[in-house]
Amino acid sequence: MNLCAPETIKYIQKTFGFKNAKGLGQNFLTDPGVIEAMVDAAEIGPEDLVIEIGPGIGVLTDAAAKRAKKVIAIEIDKALLPVLKYTLAHHNNVEIINEDILKVDLNKIIQEEAVERQNVKIMGNLPYYITTPIITQLLEKGTRAASITIMMQKEVAERIVSPPGKKSFGALSVAVQYYSNPQKVVSVPKEVFFPIPKVDSEVLILTLLEKPAVEVKDTEMFFRLVKAGFAQRRKTLSNSLKGAGLDKDAVEKALEDSGIEGSRRAETLSLEEFAALSDAFSQG
Ligand code: SAM
Repeated sequence: MNLCAPETIKYIQKTFGFKNAKGLGQNFLTDPGVIEAMVDAAEIGPEDLVIEIGPGIGVLTDAAAKRAKKVIAIEIDKALLPVLKYTLAHHNNVEIINEDILKVDLNKIIQEEAVERQNVKIMGNLPYYITTPIITQLLEKGTRAASITIMMQKEVAERIVSPPGKKSFGALSVAVQYYSNPQKVVSVPKEVFFPIPKVDSEVLILTLLEKPAVEVKDTEMFFRLVKAGFAQRRKTLSNSLKGAGLDKDAVEKALEDSGIEGSRRAETLSLEEFAALSDAFSQG
């Protein structure tokens, strides 16, 4: 069965009485080349445990299961369970968990599977409406995986890979680049989905770092400053920080101690500069 063919999706809709739930971002991929590019980028091999977010009717699950030791796919929509049972019946290394990815303790699952960190690969064609919460949760919870290969809205991908100094550089760029090395894998036009969504997509691979990209004394302070800095992008760094409720004198002192001009805007600061500012604050 060609799971990428729109006819297959229509057949499934008819046979299983399945209706694409719009609220769950159910735009299914119909391009086998994109799926191959994803499993190639993640370098899925026979020792690997793939954890897939949102398998849909199982296109990516099928491709991953052909290469991996095991695939655990987490799908929120109960209506897709009989579909997946049917489309993946020829695999004996696939487990489907009917859950909301945001409520799943992935580290617990990974621990139970007893696989090395470098053999855990997270993948998914993410529902657009919760892309950012999913990525931030995976990163902040210190998910024990080698990489996260995910498709998302192009504009979000641009923000994630953006270097400092660009308009697209923001709190999400800093957060993702703090925990991982994000790289573009392939651009995906909206026409290769069924139904066709409003926006184009991009696949990124986030290679998780063993330790954060920059060393900071206090991670909470680092992210507090990042959030404050970008809260009002058009303001100067100094005004943004003060506007976010940080003590005025402490802001002036930390800027001076870290050698960062308060007249700059947050989007011009590198991760190293945010770290220096954060450490200056921690020192008080
Ligand atoms: N992987 C399939 C593909 O590429 O064709 C489907 C991708 S579709 C864009 C997103 C999938 O994520 C849907 O199957 C949807 O039901 C599922 N989903 C949406 N929200 C979810 C959540 N919170 N947890 C787990 N799965 C979710």
